[in-house]
Order: sequence, then C-alpha cells, then structure tokens
Amino acid sequence: MTDVSEQAPKRVVIVGGGIAGLAAAFSLQEKAAEAGVPVACTVIEAGAEWGGKIATHRVGEFLIEAGPDSFLSQKPWALELCAKLGLSNQVVNTNELGQKASVYSRGRLRELPEGLVAVVPTKLGPFLRSGLVSWPGIVRMGMDLVLPGRFNAADESLASFFRRRLGREAFERVVEPLMAGIYAGDAEQMSLRATFPQFIEIERRHGSLIRGLLAGRKTAGASKGLSGRTPFVTLKDGMGELVRALVARVRGAGATLLSGRRVSALRAPSIRSKVWTYDVVLEDGAVLTADVVVLATPAYVAAEFLRPISLTVSKLLDGIPYTSTATVALAYGSNDLGPLVRGFGFIVPRVERRDLLAATWSSLKWPHRAPPAHMLARCYIGGVGREDILRADDATIVRRVRDDLRHIAGIAAEPVHVEVNRWERGMPQYVLGHRNRLDQIQAAMSGFQGLYFTGAAYRGVGVPDCIRDGNEAADLVVKYLTGRRI
Ligand SMILES: Cc1cc2nc3c(=O)[nH]c(=O)nc-3n(C[C@H](O)[C@H](O)[C@H](O)COP(=O)(O)OP(=O)(O)OC[C@H]3O[C@@H](n4cnc5c(N)ncnc54)[C@H](O)[C@@H]3O)c2cc1C
Repeated sequence: MTDVSEQAPKRVVIVGGGIAGLAAAFSLQEKAAEAGVPVACTVIEAGAEWGGKIATHRVGEFLIEAGPDSFLSQKPWALELCAKLGLSNQVVNTNELGQKASVYSRGRLRELPEGLVAVVPTKLGPFLRSGLVSWPGIVRMGMDLVLPGRFNAADESLASFFRRRLGREAFERVVEPLMAGIYAGDAEQMSLRATFPQFIEIERRHGSLIRGLLAGRKTAGASKGLSGRTPFVTLKDGMGELVRALVARVRGAGATLLSGRRVSALRAPSIRSKVWTYDVVLEDGAVLTADVVVLATPAYVAAEFLRPISLTVSKLLDGIPYTSTATVALAYGSNDLGPLVRGFGFIVPRVERRDLLAATWSSLKWPHRAPPAHMLARCYIGGVGREDILRADDATIVRRVRDDLRHIAGIAAEPVHVEVNRWERGMPQYVLGHRNRLDQIQAAMSGFQGLYFTGAAYRGVGVPDCIRDGNEAADLVVKYLTGRRI
C-alpha cells in the first residue's frame, strides 16, 4: 500500500470565502499536514473581498462594521483561531464604563436588568426596578419555579417555550428582542432545538429555567470569566482583521485563493461509476476538477449546485429560509447628543412596532471606533416580518432610522456620516424542524463521497459557530482522505 504522503496532492475546492470557508481552509491545511496528507486547496469567492458577512470599513477615523461587530467569548472557537493567528493581543473587551444596554419599552428606554443569563432573567431585584415587566408579569415569571416541565421530543418554537415558562410579557419585552438581535427572526417560527438547545436540557434537569440558570451561575462565576474576557469581544482594528490574518495564513501555507470568481455549477461527471471527482464550473467558463468539494456558501446557493446531483438534497437545502437585514452606521458629534445616549445601546421589542431592531453605541461599547468628540451608532433593521423597510432607497431608510433615534434616544442632530449596508437574504432562519432537516440532508448525502457543507445555514449563525463548523468540515475532509471511518 502506498503511503498517502507519496501520492499526488488531493485537490480540495472550497466554494465561499466567508468565515466558515476560510476557517475550513485554515483547519484543513493544519490537519492535513498533521495527518501527512498532501492537499492542494483552492478557495473560490464570488465577491471582490474576502470574509463574506464580515466587512470592516474605515472612513476617516471611524471604524464601521457592516456585518458582525463582535463575537461571543464563551464560545471558544473564534478566540482559539485568533490565538493561532497571533491575534490574541488584538482582542478587545467591551469598554468598562456604562456597561448596560437598554430596552425601549412603553415609551422610554429602560436599562436591561443585571442577572440576565443568555436571554433569561435570574435576579429578581434588578428586574423589579427596571420596570420592564409589570407586577403581574413578574409573578407569572416566578411561576417558572413551580410549573411542571414538558419533556417530549417534538420541536417547539422559541415563543411557545418562553411564553410557557416565563409568561407572555417577559417573553415579549425581554426574551424576544434579545433573540431578534441575534437571529433577526420570528420567535413564533424559530426552533428551540436548533437555537437554544441548552434550555431544553435545563428544563429537563431542573424542571425550571430560573432554577437551572441560577445553578449554572454558581459554577460559572462573574461576567468576566476566567479568561478575563467580557461576554462579547472584538478586534482592535475590527472584525476584518480576522479575515485579513486568515487569508494571509491560508495563502502563505500554499492555498490558491481566487476572489471575484463566481462558481456557477457543480458537476459530478462519473457519479454513476462511483468515481468521486467533481467539476467546479466558474462563471467565466473555467473548470476545476476536485477530489473534495466543501460548499461554504449560503444554503440557497448550495441548493442550486446540488440540483443536478441530488434533487432531494437540493430541495432540503432550499427549504432553509433566509431573511434580509441592513446595518445603518450614523456618526455624530458628541456635543450633539443628549443624556439618553449612554451605555451600550438598546433593543426594541417587536410589539413596539418600530423600524429599529436594535442600536449599538459602537464607540461607547468598543475602544477605537470613532475619533475624539464623536459617537458612532450602528443600527440594525429588517428581519422576518420587518423587511418592508429594505424596499426603500438608502435616503428613506436613513430618514426612518433617524426618526426612530429621535423618538427613542432623543437624537435630533444631523449625522456627520451615514452608511447603509444591506444584507439581502443574509441571515438563515432555524425554523421548526431545522435539526430534522439537517439529519435528512446527512442521510441523503450518505450515498455521496467527498462533498461537504459548512456555514451559518446549519449549526449556528454566530462567528464562533461558523468557525467551529468550518473546523468540523475540515475534520471530515481529512478523515475521508485518509480513509478513516466517519
Ligand atoms: C448584519 C449582520 C450582523 C451580524 N452580527 C453578528 C455579530 O455581531 N456576531 C456574530 O457572531 N455573528 C453576527 N452575524 C452572523 C455572522 O456574521 C454570519 O453568520 C457569518 O459571518 C456567516 O459566515 P459564512 O461563512 O457562513 O457565510 P458568508 O459570510 O455569507 O460567506 C459565504 C460566502 O460565499 C460566497 N458565495 C456565495 N455564492 C458564491 C458562488 N456562487 N461562488 C463563489 N462564492 C460564493 C459569498 O460571496 C460569501 O462571501 C451577523 C450577520 C449579519 C448579516
């Protein structure tokens, strides 16, 4: 038997140069080298820039994040990647001052009470003082401690679960806006199993969400964990720094990186004879033959590629819905702002029926985001059931966002800079049955070899989850290439 390292390099093509595709490429190079498998890795990205949703813009001294502006430090995969890329000293915590975010509720901003664990309140005192939920609402929340748990295997929507445990008011005023800030989704349709599976386990083990989270807090410690990191962290020069470092490292390790090249089709020419090679067809007519293909595109793009190969998988992928969002950056002179602009920003419950989902005071939350005497705000709009505003032109969007900022945070001043960044079909939705759908995709793919999917569409939308998913795709590729059982 020939040693794998003596064989011609295996051709691996990764389609999509967002964080999942780049993390997959990086991890593949690392793991293939460890396993002694020579690989020739090519990453193909349709856009002119690498990074997909991660896009940092510098405008003068303003640092604007068009997409994600931070990541969760409790999920270790992004921090681990930063460490491998030599970026640990660039990771920055949220500013120490004014650590609170607010909720716009019943006509004014109210500070989010301390003691929120994930999206669930666990401290009574601060919650009572916040005025976010009425007395009857608080009593209803407390019933979580005595209501019996429900333990069936069926998927449940986020709305149904949190209404059942904490009551309608706490759900509408606290849980829903926090959750919408992450998924831009409709809680009535979103799957608990696919988004917050830990709560199913908490209910099963403790019979109560509040009791379970309190028990967890005792072991977890204070808000800055042992790592010294705040719950959300970013990079000093923006999230784009992660992409730049990844691209440099992946290229330096010998991968071919093609940007501004769109893949138009995938063919499996010898599939009937079970010869597993794939032709990756580019829009400009070029064809790359690959032993392994990793599709790190949105699911609806992967669905198109799969159509001639497996209609079943194509349809399953196409069934993952997406919603569109936009971020609107507005920069102001600090002297133009009133007393309501403090803390980290605010979220807006759907029941308030405003255009804004959330606003972050970026330069108050993070260091190095705006020049002295200026404040940079990042507003989030769109999402399921709130996409209408995205049909308007940029000027109208800015006017409507400014109306909300005036109404909610008293900002009447002219911004010194505005920027609208649209993300059409930018956010996958893990709706009821999402996990089943993934199982079905996996089952249908078992007849194929050398073809993998990664990215935000599947097992987590946040940057750390996408990195973990890219790493896992690389694991599968190396196992496949070394002939190990998966
Ligand atoms: C506005 C916004 C704010 C967010 N904020 C946060 C946040 O603060 N923190 C956080 O953790 N997460 C956040 N997220 C989520 C997170 O940013 C994304 O889920 C993640 O970056 C997606 O990475 P990905 O690699 O899966 O997909 P993408 O970044 O979408 O990458 C897929 C790539 O495939 C390319 N592609 C598509 N079709 C083709 C083709 N035919 N040929 C070649 N290439 C193709 C695309 O151009 C794209 O670059 C946010 C998302 C959005 C939209």
